[in-house]
Amino acid sequence: MLSTMMDAPLSISSIFWRIERLYADKPVVTQRAAGEPDRTTYGEVARRSRRLASALAQQGIGPGDRVATFGFNTQRHLECYFAIPCMGAVLHTLNVRLFEDQLEYIINHAEDQVIFADRSVLPVLERLAGKIPTVRLVVLMNEGAESTGVLPNVVDYEEFLATGDAGYEWPEVDERAAAAMCYTSGTTGNPKGVVYSHRSTVIHSLVAALPNNVGLGESDTVMYAVPMFHANAWGLPYAAALAGAAQIFSDRYLDPERILSLLDAEGVTITAGVPTIWLGVLNLLDKSGRRLPRLRTVLCGGSAAPPALIAGLRRHDIHLLHAWGMTETSPLASLTRLKASMEGLTEDQKLRYLAKQGVIVPTVECRIMDIGTGQELPWDGTAFGELQVRGPYITGTYYNDPTAAEKFMDGWLRTGDVATIDPDGYIQLVDRTKDLVKSGGEWISSVELEGTIMAHPKVLEAAVVGLPHPHWSERPVAAVVAKPEHAGDLTPEEIRAFLTDKVARWWLPDEILIVDELPKTSVGKFAKNRLREQLAAITEKWAALPA
Ligand code: AMP
Repeated sequence: MLSTMMDAPLSISSIFWRIERLYADKPVVTQRAAGEPDRTTYGEVARRSRRLASALAQQGIGPGDRVATFGFNTQRHLECYFAIPCMGAVLHTLNVRLFEDQLEYIINHAEDQVIFADRSVLPVLERLAGKIPTVRLVVLMNEGAESTGVLPNVVDYEEFLATGDAGYEWPEVDERAAAAMCYTSGTTGNPKGVVYSHRSTVIHSLVAALPNNVGLGESDTVMYAVPMFHANAWGLPYAAALAGAAQIFSDRYLDPERILSLLDAEGVTITAGVPTIWLGVLNLLDKSGRRLPRLRTVLCGGSAAPPALIAGLRRHDIHLLHAWGMTETSPLASLTRLKASMEGLTEDQKLRYLAKQGVIVPTVECRIMDIGTGQELPWDGTAFGELQVRGPYITGTYYNDPTAAEKFMDGWLRTGDVATIDPDGYIQLVDRTKDLVKSGGEWISSVELEGTIMAHPKVLEAAVVGLPHPHWSERPVAAVVAKPEHAGDLTPEEIRAFLTDKVARWWLPDEILIVDELPKTSVGKFAKNRLREQLAAITEKWAALPA
């Protein structure tokens, strides 16, 4: 029997309706290169979004057409986030840090028709002139270089907006229609396109806002240091709008000093980003004695948050909310909050839970499967296997990709992450399947080793990779960056001594290198394949060892 409920579509325009009708006065602030930030309101963003959609419609953009963005976090980018999907087109966020050949592949694969680009990254786009035939219009946002004329049909954002009509009405959109797309920055093969629907985006926003999850309310002020080209800035632009929270945009200025000042000046209550960003901010907080009394939550994920970072922020009364997810999972799929029954635990015990990747969110299910046999494993906190998930905002395939089926098993997404799940349901990531170090038939978790090294007071960052070894099959090597004030004053021996009573003897890295910086991916994670290449001399040296 069918229910009597209305079959109203779950659509991004219902989120837009709230900022326009209920939260029109709430602030939207964008940091500038220097001087006072740009200040406006949701009401103004709403009017400009309608204008933008109308201008796009006049250019012949219609339902299902891909309209790309190529820029950092700004109010204008937020306007694209609303205008493009609400008019039925597909918002395709392009990662500004991708290599040119990948960018070219992605634009052509998605068949983008329009690109909204920050002027600061225009030269990157201009190098693709002549190679992206589907692009027929480029709209320039923000400050920076002017067009050199190599791209056809380049217009200024504000002039383009002026051609639109603020009375533009949103068309009816099917909730299962594509709303946005984002390509995963794969380390092997071509990037893969994930296409979010209106329905998946609305469900993700509702789930993200729940008190047990990010916990977003109307009284919050949100600043995401995660770029808007990475998994829809973790869905926060929509979730914050749905909740009526104010939004602060950092643009491209993500150094610790600028972030700390922005969080402070705007009274941010919830922020988000990868661990490297917060390691820098924590170091600055420790050194400067500055405080962030209004900051309640640092949502942190993308790679494992080191326990020392969580403990360090707690010293400043800042709660790091550790989350796990992927572009494929919209992305927030698990978050760590202590259960009520854990209140009485010691600080150390609490920290152990807070450093896990947390409990799967409502509407999503998870399981772990043995890497060898493919059998489901128990939730005992010890058995580890590939983490698999399914749910209404988990991707069910990849866009136009003949190899997509390999990433799924009986309707579950194979995440490529290896995890344990404890009896309380807390997921703990052991590693990526490809980053686990296999030594003498046993596994070593590169993530756990990194977390332990980063607890050393002189260490800023550490990455561990397994390199081929004739006898052990693989052995771990650590590359470590000292905090700026300890540059030149950190030795491999100190780190080895520090690790001795914290990890099993056979886990101790065979080589520990102190380096100036670690290679990072386009979204700020350790680029382990590049690190492996940089360590080629060790691989060669080991190749000569006896088996
Ligand atoms: P991306 O699709 O680029 O967001 O990358 C997703 C991958 O980042 C996941 O499959 C994990 O390997 C990694 N990741 C995300 N969050 C965490 C976390 N909290 N701890 C460890 N790894 C993470």
